[in-house]
Amino acid sequence: DKITIAIDGHSSTGKSTAAKQLAQRLKYIYVDTGAMYRAISYYALSENIYRDNQLHAQELIDSLDKIKVSFQRNEETDRADVYLNGKNIEKQIRTLEVSSIVSLVAEVSAVRAKLVAQQQEMGKEKGVVMDGRDIGTVVFPDAELKVFMTAAPEVRAQRRYDELIDRGDEVVYEEVLKNVIERDYIDSTREDSPLTQTADAKLLDTSEMNRAQQFEQLVQWAEEAMR
Ligand code: C5P
Repeated sequence: DKITIAIDGHSSTGKSTAAKQLAQRLKYIYVDTGAMYRAISYYALSENIYRDNQLHAQELIDSLDKIKVSFQRNEETDRADVYLNGKNIEKQIRTLEVSSIVSLVAEVSAVRAKLVAQQQEMGKEKGVVMDGRDIGTVVFPDAELKVFMTAAPEVRAQRRYDELIDRGDEVVYEEVLKNVIERDYIDSTREDSPLTQTADAKLLDTSEMNRAQQFEQLVQWAEEAMR
């Protein structure tokens, strides 16, 4: 029978890559919930709701009804791209600029409530792999498999840095590391749905694991959980 798989953890641990692969193998739906928080952050930047180094939370809350986040399969990459009000913004949400404000946006309870409801709707049929920060704790507390991914901050920053450089972004390693550490801190200390490893989640520390090894471990856990 199909199950629900919740993958939570720190930033840039390889969650989405591993979750995507796992969903492909199991022929499950994959949902990147971080992309949804990033889409709203992109909106805040483009509508000047984040200005003068400040997020104007009430303005964002007042705009929430006008924000529609959705996914659509990209025929070329065979992946789901994220859309904001009908516009493909997959490329725009991966910048360091979006990364630097997304944890502030994710602290706003009304934002979380909106996205959590949408995620629960997307996963109500089971047969879903969802990755984020609060999937096993809030979105699907009854998930049959919960995984908590982590890795040393320096390893995670290096991976994110390589990705950004690959895309042609001009970034400095120290800034990426600072962002990774800052997001961990905000994500784990916020009042609403802080990132926490629950007792029923399996810990996957990827500091010294390559992608194939991470994938192998996830497949094994998924098979166990399906029995
Ligand atoms: O996974 P990703 O790094 O793309 O997530 C970006 C940010 O979105 C996280 O640092 C976190 O602040 C927020 N987030 C969240 N809850 C989720 C997914 C992401 O708060 N379920």
